[in-house]
Amino acid sequence: MTQAVVSRVPANKWVIAGTVVLASFVVVMDVSIVNVAMPQMLGEFGVTLDSITWVAVAYSIAEIILVTMASWCSMLLGRKRYYILSFSIFTAASVLCGLAPSLEMMIAARVLQGLGGGGLIPVAQAIILAEDVTPVRRWSLACPALPSCGLALTEAERIQTPLIDQIEERLTRHGLLHERFSIRITGCPNGCARPYAGDIGLVGRMPGFFALYVGGDFAGTRLNEAIAERLDIAGIADALDPLFALFASSRAAGEGFGDFCHRIGIAALQQIVEGKKAA
Ligand code: SF4
Repeated sequence: MTQAVVSRVPANKWVIAGTVVLASFVVVMDVSIVNVAMPQMLGEFGVTLDSITWVAVAYSIAEIILVTMASWCSMLLGRKRYYILSFSIFTAASVLCGLAPSLEMMIAARVLQGLGGGGLIPVAQAIILAEDVTPVRRWSLACPALPSCGLALTEAERIQTPLIDQIEERLTRHGLLHERFSIRITGCPNGCARPYAGDIGLVGRMPGFFALYVGGDFAGTRLNEAIAERLDIAGIADALDPLFALFASSRAAGEGFGDFCHRIGIAALQQIVEGKKAA
């Protein structure tokens, strides 16, 4: 199955950061700004001081509840969709607060405002952090391997970060840093991180050495094949480098790396990798 890959256009992270920080600022300001309006609300609604404090308390309670649920809501709806929904609820509730004709309506609007505002700050932080993560890092997966797994032949999780650093450097060189790749690494052939079904699979064969698999697909619907049996950790990015170069120059429109490798053929890719090792 061939899957079209949607390349991510690099977003301007400063615009994103500015947008979410501004919204977070308004949410935090809303906790305390209501105190400024307390004297006017006392007169407007004709209620006691004890009653009017519910306008502040209701917002805080609703906000705190949603802060604890923000991660779950993000997973349920998607981070961006949840952020937009929260922002819309917060904005609509702010308008309702301004129009509230009674204390009860004001408290209800403040609860709604807190429910919208509660998700904005934690999700804003997640959005800012996510913008610094490249697609290849985001979609990389490694099993625990050493020292947690008694079956491990070599490292997996503990080499994930330095290995992705090296691969990112090669992708940058070929203008592919914002391409979506799935890379799966395991410390033994048992394959707990599903290395046989990603764009790129790395399977530990012996201490410090991995087999390299390519030709699966991002969705994991096609098995990949081995093109190198024993690469040391330092040689993995070197082996992938000529494949990235070929992918950058010869890919079809919308084609993912795994689909490209499958189309070119494992034998041809093996020759390229062997040639690079011999050079
Ligand atoms: S793939 Fe192997 S090393 Fe990794 S967790 Fe599974 S059994 Fe352990």
